Amino acid sequence: MALLGNLFNIQKFSINDGPGIRTTVFFKGCPLRCGWCANPESQNRNAAKADAMSDAAYRGRAYTVAEVMAVAMQDADFYAESGGGITLSGGEVLQQMDFAKALIDAAHAEGLHVAVETTGFAPPERFRSFLPYPDLFLYDFKHYDREIHRAHTGVDNDVILENLRAVVHAQRPVIARIPVIPRFNVGIRHARGLAGALSQIGVREVHLLPFHQFGENKYEALGIDYAWKGVPQLRPEALENYRRVFLDAGLDCSFK
Ligand code: SF4
Repeated sequence: MALLGNLFNIQKFSINDGPGIRTTVFFKGCPLRCGWCANPESQNRNAAKADAMSDAAYRGRAYTVAEVMAVAMQDADFYAESGGGITLSGGEVLQQMDFAKALIDAAHAEGLHVAVETTGFAPPERFRSFLPYPDLFLYDFKHYDREIHRAHTGVDNDVILENLRAVVHAQRPVIARIPVIPRFNVGIRHARGLAGALSQIGVREVHLLPFHQFGENKYEALGIDYAWKGVPQLRPEALENYRRVFLDAGLDCSFK
């Protein structure tokens, strides 16, 4: 029987999910529950059942590797010209690791560059088996403080830190991605904590993702309470001092 992956979107012409022009493949299912999540439809893995009351566009469906590759290869010329490729995102890719590995193998067989955006929240032994697969890890790092991380995402950051150390130790290309979120990690104190933790681990490059409200309508459609409703979005211009902390720590840091 063909290996199937539960996906909720395949987005073409992405320019913020790794180098060049990319097709981003969104995996359904996430072990975290970040209150500000812009893709709440990604959180539940069970596409057909748990989201039965929601809009069909949010349910996702099962895909074979061949189906995803057929879509991805439509833009192969753009990847070649721009230095792009495909990005696996979510949700959490590592929750469907076998499908992700098979998809990456198929993409590599076509000569495509593959980035994987991940929370890093996976059993360390399983995670280590995944290390050789992506050409680039886009590694979400939300908070350095274990308890604050748990309070706002539902899980502590022990495993996330351990797996990030494994990425660096294995010398795999990695960019840390920090969602900059009001009431969670905005503020110079938090920037210092994040920059310090990443420097100590040996990460060299950081993307800052300022909070936005792109997901607000989805919460209404899904009938889920949204604790960040009405919170103003953050603009990069207002976060220059925040970014400066990372630069001063010797990190290459830019907004995405
Ligand atoms: S890790 Fe990402 S996809 Fe998962 S709940 Fe948090 S913001 Fe949403």
